[in-house]
Amino acid sequence: MGDILKMDLEKVKAFFAERKVSLPSPPAVVVRLLEQIKREDYHRLAETLRLDPALAARVLGVANSPLYRTGPEEVVSLEKAISLLGTEVVKNLALSFVIYRDLRARAASGPGFKMELFWKRSVTHAVGSRLLAQESSLEEEHLFTAGLLADIGVLVLYQAIPERYQELLEEKEICGRSLHLLEKERLGFSHAEAGAYLLQRWGLPDHLVMDIAYHHCWERAPQAYQKDARILFLATILGGIYFSRCTTSHYEAALQELEKAFRFSEEKSLELIDRVAEEVRDLLRFFDLAPEALPPYSQILEEAREELEKLSLNCALLLRRLEEEKGHAEELARRLQEANRKLRELSIRDGLTGLYNHRYFQERLRQEWERAKRYRRPLSLILMDIDHFKRINDTYGHPVGDQILKALSRLIRENIRASDIPARYGGEEFAVILPEADLQGAAGVGERLRAQVAEAPFKVNGREIPVTISLGVASSLPGSGPFSPQKLIEAADKALYYSKTHGRNRLTAVPLD
Ligand code: GH3
Ligand code: MG
Ligand code: MG
Repeated sequence: MGDILKMDLEKVKAFFAERKVSLPSPPAVVVRLLEQIKREDYHRLAETLRLDPALAARVLGVANSPLYRTGPEEVVSLEKAISLLGTEVVKNLALSFVIYRDLRARAASGPGFKMELFWKRSVTHAVGSRLLAQESSLEEEHLFTAGLLADIGVLVLYQAIPERYQELLEEKEICGRSLHLLEKERLGFSHAEAGAYLLQRWGLPDHLVMDIAYHHCWERAPQAYQKDARILFLATILGGIYFSRCTTSHYEAALQELEKAFRFSEEKSLELIDRVAEEVRDLLRFFDLAPEALPPYSQILEEAREELEKLSLNCALLLRRLEEEKGHAEELARRLQEANRKLRELSIRDGLTGLYNHRYFQERLRQEWERAKRYRRPLSLILMDIDHFKRINDTYGHPVGDQILKALSRLIRENIRASDIPARYGGEEFAVILPEADLQGAAGVGERLRAQVAEAPFKVNGREIPVTISLGVASSLPGSGPFSPQKLIEAADKALYYSKTHGRNRLTAVPLD
């Protein structure tokens, strides 16, 4: 037995002695069995088992399970079992059952400890160990027993120091750290050594004790036990796939470790993992454990994949719908915006000429006035009126008059800056607000317009119609005096009136101050 192990087992012994905890002693049938095994008294082995019909039935049941059965022949008696399967198999099965039965009967469940789950996982360890031993062509029949008992240290500790151990288990749940490491840190040894210590005291064979002692650190095991300890280690990972809260991390660990240990492909590993579920399902009843549906892991994976596919399909559909809705909403918003823009245009424009209407002209004049005042910039206003327009209407008709109003509007637009604001002030009266323009600048614009109108007759329906306009221009430096937009209009209007009364087709410019 390795020195390291001896030291560790001493630690366990000291720990229990210190706390005056007495470990369970082996049941009589275990002692008897072990004695017979030691003496290689296999004839008696069958007898001992026969004296315990429940035990014999279990051994035969498992011997007939696919996990053990070697051929088509049914194993109907213990002698047959021994001759077909060998004494090693039968003795280990017997040992498994007696120890299992004894420990299970003794161990009381606490509120935080699920005993049924613990044993189901232990059976899974046993099955996993056996299958792995077969896979690696090891004839190590004790591995089933070792697997079953690998974690009994957990029970030992739970019975010995229930509250402290419960805390430790809870801490493991919360922080997700390995139980083995947490135990080492808190107690100085782990359940692997505690279990090994108990089995050693019960007189179980060394290889069982050693495999269990090292199942969480097989690399440290003496050479002769490394392989088995590693198999046990792998088996506990397999158990975690079916009976733990972190199924996927155990699955991933299993793939990794099986690849490392046996060069198993993922497919081969999954096959083995599935087989474990199948065998466990069959064996649970021999351990008086409630049946488990236990679907093979590949099925769980497949279902998860299907769910995922459905989910991603739904997701894709939802996304597409969302995109469509988004596109639809964007289109609606765009149309609404456009409609609003048109509505606003309609509300501020004059229908006939397309220039701004009177209401908007007033609004903009106030705004521009405030802006000019704030920045101390000049602001000018041109008012113009078609000369004798009534006469034009009377001569050529109202529709022709309309065309002239439109043509003049175009001309106005063409002669001003984009920043100027042209409006139809009244029937045949127009106004242009000229931000930043002083009186001279505004008069220049007005004069150019007047000259253009007067220069050439308007052409409407093949007719040439001479038109002239009269203009009044006013300018101000808002903020420089007690003036207002209204005063600017009045001044421009006065100037226009002056033009009208002084011969028409002329421009009059007046500063406001
Ligand atoms: P003045 O040189 O003194 O301005 O003489 P005027 O005839 O142009 O002035 P008045 O104010 O007497 O007449 C304006 C005319 O403009 C009368 C009106 O029928 C016409 N008018 C106003 N709005 C429109 C319009 O939208 N279309 C047309 N065709 N004529 C209009
Ligand atoms: Mg007129
Ligand atoms: Mg008029």
